[in-house]
Amino acid sequence: MRVVVEMSILVVGTVAFDSIEAPSGSVDRVLGGSASYFAVGASFFHPVQIVGVIGEDFPREHLDMFASRGIDLAGLQKEKGPTFYWRGRYHEDVNVRDTLELQLNVLTGFRPRLPESYRNAEYVFLGNIDPEMQSEVLDQLRGSRYLACDTMDHWIQGNRPGLEKVLARVETLVINDSEARLLSGENNIVRAARGILKMGPKVILIKRGEYGVLEFSDSSVFATPAYPLEEVFDPTGAGDSFAGGFMGQLARSRDHSQRGLRRAIIYGSVVASFAVEDFGLKRLDRLTPEEIESRFRQFLDLTDFHT
Ligand code: AMP
Repeated sequence: MRVVVEMSILVVGTVAFDSIEAPSGSVDRVLGGSASYFAVGASFFHPVQIVGVIGEDFPREHLDMFASRGIDLAGLQKEKGPTFYWRGRYHEDVNVRDTLELQLNVLTGFRPRLPESYRNAEYVFLGNIDPEMQSEVLDQLRGSRYLACDTMDHWIQGNRPGLEKVLARVETLVINDSEARLLSGENNIVRAARGILKMGPKVILIKRGEYGVLEFSDSSVFATPAYPLEEVFDPTGAGDSFAGGFMGQLARSRDHSQRGLRRAIIYGSVVASFAVEDFGLKRLDRLTPEEIESRFRQFLDLTDFHT
């Protein structure tokens, strides 16, 4: 008898309460965090397992939402104290935001512990979190797999040595343009990408907000626009849901060729374009697979110049 075990996508990152002020309105203490956006985005494509930490104040309804999407929560640890909290404000130009408040809370001293059932995950996304925690997850994995990671200015400035160790171990880095400049010390984005490729990753995906995504490797460059939207309600989590769609599609297709990567980049862009249409995770929560496929086809049309 042949037993087929479906391998999951594992994500480590923050599970958070976010307070967001944007030109389109504001919300207080909604569900957010890098792992939350990633997991929900990826769950449309493939089973997902979360590694992270929540506090005693984390409501049941959020756990139920994850569970209803088939997201495995065995690696979500509950600790004494309040959940990680982030407060940010977007400018009129929503590509620009300021962090107004960051309370690490239960994230301080968090030691990720992977349940046995997580250790064979084939696709692993080290979402935005302290690089030490990203490394601890890598140390607990077995066998060969597709590893990708994200980071942000907070960690580039706060724990660069730790981040460099992680970069040396991953296949793909997903990062936004200002962070790529900060990490590489180069202002020009192509030079920045070339500099980061020397730090370890074979592929770099640079997120440029409403301007789309650039992919760089030693042998390729690929560019896609973002899906043009008349109104961006809340850009929070666009990057993480992009990564979720990207990794989700890679895991679903198991196609790591340049063509496969490009398709995954478009699926990531599709998921991100929905994420920004409402506050927090609201839009992704009511998204359907049909809407994803339909917007994927619109992307083909948007970028087609062969006809
Ligand atoms: P993104 O808009 O894709 O960069 O992700 C925003 C999410 O990152 C929010 O939901 C925040 O809760 C979370 N976040 C903000 N700051 C940090 C940080 N320093 N480390 C990890 N996650 C963070």
